[in-house]
Amino acid sequence: MLSIAAPPAMRAHAREARRAGRSIGFVPTMGALHAGHLALVAEARSRADIVALSVFVNPLQFGPGEDFTRYPRDLARDAALAEQAGVDVLWAPSTEAMYPDRPSVTVAPGPAGDRLEGEIRPGHFGGVLTVVLKLLSVVEPDVAVFGRKDFQQAALVRRMARDFSLPVEIVVAPTVREADGLALSSRNVYLDAQGRAAAVALPRALARGVAAFRGGERDARSLTGCVGEVLAVESRLAVDYVACVGPEEIEPLETVDERSVLAVAARVGPTRLIDNVVLGDGLEGDVRVA
Ligand code: AMP
Repeated sequence: MLSIAAPPAMRAHAREARRAGRSIGFVPTMGALHAGHLALVAEARSRADIVALSVFVNPLQFGPGEDFTRYPRDLARDAALAEQAGVDVLWAPSTEAMYPDRPSVTVAPGPAGDRLEGEIRPGHFGGVLTVVLKLLSVVEPDVAVFGRKDFQQAALVRRMARDFSLPVEIVVAPTVREADGLALSSRNVYLDAQGRAAAVALPRALARGVAAFRGGERDARSLTGCVGEVLAVESRLAVDYVACVGPEEIEPLETVDERSVLAVAARVGPTRLIDNVVLGDGLEGDVRVA
């Protein structure tokens, strides 16, 4: 595995690979790699000749008081995991290289970026889309793979690719979960044993929503109501939202169908957790690790 830091070196390497006729699959991450990230690598591997993975904790997408400074960083561990997973190029640029100056031109995500996560974290998706556009413009991949765990982010990236005519295919891969259903997240390391026990209420609540949907419930308010009841049992959880939204525009729904997304966000102490399920798919389409 080749490790690269400087953006021009990454660009040169990717151009060389393309000149040699090799397609590039790209997986952007903030590091602290786990099996969810590695599943995205496998997806990229199956769709392209070489796989590039970036590790960059993007300051632009963190709000004041959020966990930018304490976000877990361990590049040596990430490099070992990436290499084992078959990554060809690990690209970990410095903050200074990515942002020599605070950018003055940034991407505006549009109304879908103001909902759910965007409402709780103002400016978050502007920061995400700006860095994704920068990363894509350096690597120029054929395919970029994102996780459904962050379905709103994936929807916005796909929309940006379409609206900006970016020559990249955006692929969204299923959520990887622990055996008890908790979605893997770099932020799970913040949880102590009690917090970890409380966190499993998120997938449990989503499963309740899916069960209600399968039982014929189509009213969004009733669905979010029964999901909220499961979350409310767990006193250590502070719920940010429970919502039924459309998969692309993230618009709030009154009536749901198979494609609708049931999304939850809650805090366990200072740790924010998000999760979601496509109602027609249920949690079965997701991947479980032992
Ligand atoms: P992050 O490093 O948290 O910014 O995530 C990098 C990519 O990994 C994003 O596309 C996430 O959606 C994806 N991802 C994070 N957690 C999971 C998970 N549990 N399963 C699948 N993909 C994930």
